[in-house]
Amino acid sequence: MSSHALPNILLNDFSNDTLLRLPPNFYKSLKSYISNKDIKKIQKAYSLAFYAHEGQERRDGSKYITHPIAVANILLDLKMDTDSICAALMHDVLEDCDVNKKDLIKLFGDDVAEIVDGVSKLSNLDINNRSERDANNLQKMMLAISKDVRVVLVKICDRLHNMRTIEHLPRSKQLEKSKETIQLYGPLALRIGMQDIRAELEDLAFRCIYPLRVSMLESAIKKSSGGRKRIVSKIRKELKRHLKTNGIATVGVKGREKNIYSIYRKIKSKHKPFSEILDVYGFRILVDSVDECYRSLGVIHNYFSPIENKFKDYIAIPKSNGYQALHTSLLALNAFPIEVQIQTRSMSEIASFGIAAHWQYKTQDKDVNTELRATKWLSGLVNLEKHTNNPSEFAKSIKTDLDSDEVFLFSPKGDIYALRKGSTPIDFAYEVHTDLGDTIVGCKVNRSEVPLNIELETGQTVDIITSKSNSEVDPSWLNYVATSKARTAIRSRLRKQKTSDARKAGKIMLESELKRAGSSLSEFRGSSLKKILDSIGVTSLNTLLTELGLGKRTGNIIAERFYSGLQIREGIKKPNPVLIIDNRIEGVSVRFAKCCFPIHGDSVVAHSDTEKGIVIHHKRCKQVKPFLDKDSRYISAIWGENKKAHLYKVNIDVNTEDKVGVLSDLGSVFARAGINIGSVITKTIDKKFAGFEIQIEVENKEELKNVMQKVRSMKSTTSCKRNINEK
Ligand code: MN
Repeated sequence: MSSHALPNILLNDFSNDTLLRLPPNFYKSLKSYISNKDIKKIQKAYSLAFYAHEGQERRDGSKYITHPIAVANILLDLKMDTDSICAALMHDVLEDCDVNKKDLIKLFGDDVAEIVDGVSKLSNLDINNRSERDANNLQKMMLAISKDVRVVLVKICDRLHNMRTIEHLPRSKQLEKSKETIQLYGPLALRIGMQDIRAELEDLAFRCIYPLRVSMLESAIKKSSGGRKRIVSKIRKELKRHLKTNGIATVGVKGREKNIYSIYRKIKSKHKPFSEILDVYGFRILVDSVDECYRSLGVIHNYFSPIENKFKDYIAIPKSNGYQALHTSLLALNAFPIEVQIQTRSMSEIASFGIAAHWQYKTQDKDVNTELRATKWLSGLVNLEKHTNNPSEFAKSIKTDLDSDEVFLFSPKGDIYALRKGSTPIDFAYEVHTDLGDTIVGCKVNRSEVPLNIELETGQTVDIITSKSNSEVDPSWLNYVATSKARTAIRSRLRKQKTSDARKAGKIMLESELKRAGSSLSEFRGSSLKKILDSIGVTSLNTLLTELGLGKRTGNIIAERFYSGLQIREGIKKPNPVLIIDNRIEGVSVRFAKCCFPIHGDSVVAHSDTEKGIVIHHKRCKQVKPFLDKDSRYISAIWGENKKAHLYKVNIDVNTEDKVGVLSDLGSVFARAGINIGSVITKTIDKKFAGFEIQIEVENKEELKNVMQKVRSMKSTTSCKRNINEK
């Protein structure tokens, strides 16, 4: 299908001249219950759809516009409201044409635009070959995306028309669509209580997938139907007569035809032969009031003998999808088992049309908006639930599905995961697998990279990027995970990480001490190592290293013990400094002190801190300078070449003349240099001058020098210097 440019005049000026005449039959159906003013709106929707799809064709060669009209017609049969009809007419215009949601809002209002947009979103879900668990989640997901039940209604009617015309698709597509219909759209229709549409959808799909089974079933039904018809008509007359003589006058009794897929499903699920399933005759009795339902039941139980344990009162306790009726099984004419359903007419209507029945346009209460009516219905269902012992799953599910506290997400393979609302990619990773959470380093949502703390939305595809070598859990993650699974996993991982970090830090410290004697840990093995450990009073080298790293023991004292084991104490040299690359020393991640903010190129020292692991300070930082020579927990460190363009935070103090726009001028200097500003603290110095403490992120000293030079060269700058917490 080619994208098609709309005549601009259509979007800007929808006047009577641009409106097209509605097809006569369609107009006639509209006329039956929709006001002239609303028909105008529908005419507008029709015109837009017509122009948008102009030149596009269906598979069978007919004009594309015939499809949206057919979908709108199905909704008309359900007596749906104007906005649904408009949305049905335009349900494919966002997909294939040059129209966007904003246009629709402008021309038709929020409701119509939301429905069209929702239907497009549902169409974009890739829903083939799902497992059953997924199919169930997918139904919930579709309802969650929809927000408005009318989205699902339009989508189901769209699918119904596509199934009615499925013979024009290639065979592989036919099978794909049919499977999807059985797995997803049938149950979805049932979920919102639309039994008739569900039956038709499933029959169409079943016919398409198993043509042979269908023809066998049909011929079997046909064979038995001659005698069957006579019996049905005889029993029907009997029932009617008995009811009438007992004063239930306005009554309809119908023989029920089962749809072919439901017969097939019964054969499969109950493992009963075809004859047994078909030999049960079904009848439906329709009366005017609930009272008459129960009286009818009494009457027929009086004349035919009921089969034990087969009576069900779905009027007092409705089924989960809102279905109400009395069900009973009896032996009619002493020979034939029959199933009887007794309902009021409105119960029967709801059973057929489900939510749509509640949405039906009623001219007398035009001012009650449709949204309200549906909400009322939903809350009605919830109230029903309170008065019954049988938890009304449907009421619960619809209610929570439309206003879901869950988000439904796809993995790249297409599996669906349900997570709490507010979940982030980290939650998602831990939900899929603990290993995935533990090694997460990044994330793509719908193929573009996003930060790990964004809130995920239903329908997104989440692709977790992992790295085995560079996987460290960040304590700050605890602030933005929503699931307890992720929280627990992060906590336990942090505990492990802390000891393993401490152990690594301890090793670096001890090695750097031993180097002074030209030795290294690898020289100590077996019994000689054990002797040293015994003399220190620890059971294993790992324990010793961990305690060292945590600052519970002092490096040079421990080193002394090792020297004595070596029995060589010639010329103890200065240790070689450790190498900092990005934010790591020998693979162990380090922190940069938040007092002096050292950056690449500074003269620095590494300090092993009990709580924080290894922390890098500027050598002139007042926190460390006095202790450098006295405390063995300071290890000399130098910078290696960075591998990953790590950014270091740094604080600079800028004083300027206090003029309008001076801060934004400063900002643009950093922006032009491609440097991020983390924070700015403004201080008024006096009437003439202002001071700014600015935190920026730089790769190295060189970059800092250059940008400070630029700041100094600004006219209004009086001073600019770096703050390394010296005095
Ligand atoms: Mn369509």
